[in-house]
Amino acid sequence: MRRLTILGSTGSIGTSTLDVVARHPDRFQAFALTAQAQWQRLMEQCRRFRPVYAVLTDRQAAEALAQALREEDLPTQVLAGEAALAQVASAPEVDTVMAAIVGAAGLVPTLAAAQAGKRILLANKEALVMSGALFMEAVKANGAELLPIDSEHNAVFQCLPGDGRGLAARGVRRILLTASGGPFRTRAPESLEGVTPAEACAHPNWVMGRKISVDSATMMNKGLEVIEAYWLFDAQPEQIQVVIHPQSVIHSMVEYVDGSVLAQLSNPDMRTPIAHALGYPERIDSGVEALDLFRVARLTFEAPDPDRFPCLNLAYQALRAGGTAPAVLNAANEIAVEAFLAEALPFRRIPALIETVLARLPVQAADSLDTVLAADAQARALARRLLSQSEVT
Ligand code: NAD
Ligand code: MG
Repeated sequence: MRRLTILGSTGSIGTSTLDVVARHPDRFQAFALTAQAQWQRLMEQCRRFRPVYAVLTDRQAAEALAQALREEDLPTQVLAGEAALAQVASAPEVDTVMAAIVGAAGLVPTLAAAQAGKRILLANKEALVMSGALFMEAVKANGAELLPIDSEHNAVFQCLPGDGRGLAARGVRRILLTASGGPFRTRAPESLEGVTPAEACAHPNWVMGRKISVDSATMMNKGLEVIEAYWLFDAQPEQIQVVIHPQSVIHSMVEYVDGSVLAQLSNPDMRTPIAHALGYPERIDSGVEALDLFRVARLTFEAPDPDRFPCLNLAYQALRAGGTAPAVLNAANEIAVEAFLAEALPFRRIPALIETVLARLPVQAADSLDTVLAADAQARALARRLLSQSEVT
């Protein structure tokens, strides 16, 4: 029986995880479920999964949940505040942590899970983008196990023999990360002037949280995934090629020196990578329909257009700059997306805001958590200042 903490259990990845967990009551048990403020949804999950702990970072929401649990005489204990996230991610009773908080908020608890030597199912790519070196070191030093949930990285993982050697020793030439191209793949850039958050979040193939949906529309999501692949697979930036594949059936590929290209295919449903990582190395049922290749019929590929998707180049640029640059990129992007979702920044100005923040902040060595968090805070402050001065709008 695996005992599970799900960080971000009320989100898109969190609920898909619980959907898979519910299919295997003999294998998995929820130890802790966490969310930011959505206590009603967390209450429903407590009724169904009976975790030992439920954590809400919002204290008022935590009180409301505790009250509701008492009224129904449910045994789950409520913890409040950010420190409780790290506590349930590193508790000795837990062996597996699903890291599915969105954004930088997931970094500290995910790192705590690494330091405690847990099996980490990593959806929270922002944590790795911000602090890749520290995070990978913590995984290694504490015997933690890192399994990628992001569908692309999970696909690459499935197409690589898992013997821990470097890419060169395994005969890998390139990693081909597929990208759907998002909702604006074929739209003329000028026509994106007034797009609304609802349009940007209407992804053609996936239903996801709002932040990652906007990232998919700008293709910053793929940029973050390039950085994620760099750390997860120890790949050089030039070994990671983005391939637009609008059907989202091939989730990524690995190209070998002998000319072989291995791909992982499935319906675009996150329960497949989630079940893969939950069961690993066994294969377990995910509830996902079998892939019907006759219905898919056609798989197509295109090169990404850098003019249409400037965020992709910004991510490569930050990756090459190294140090705190990816943390700055990520923080500026989080503020830009938040502003766009609040209709305070036009969609087409998102890359400009990020580019300005990257250009103005010096790159430092990312050698401690404090340095990374300070770079993150500085980039957020600068991005907010630029927004309030309308320098980029
Ligand atoms: P979401 O917005 O649907 O859910 C986010 C979860 O995190 C919620 O449970 C929310 O309560 C919690 N949360 C948000 N802010 C928090 C904070 N400040 N403190 C504590 N908890 C907080 O997001 P999602 O789409 O499920 O994405 C989660 C992560 O998985 C992201 O990093 C995303 O990039 C990654 N991911 C998602 C998908 C997908 O299909 N949704 C695919 C690949 C990767
Ligand atoms: Mg992905």
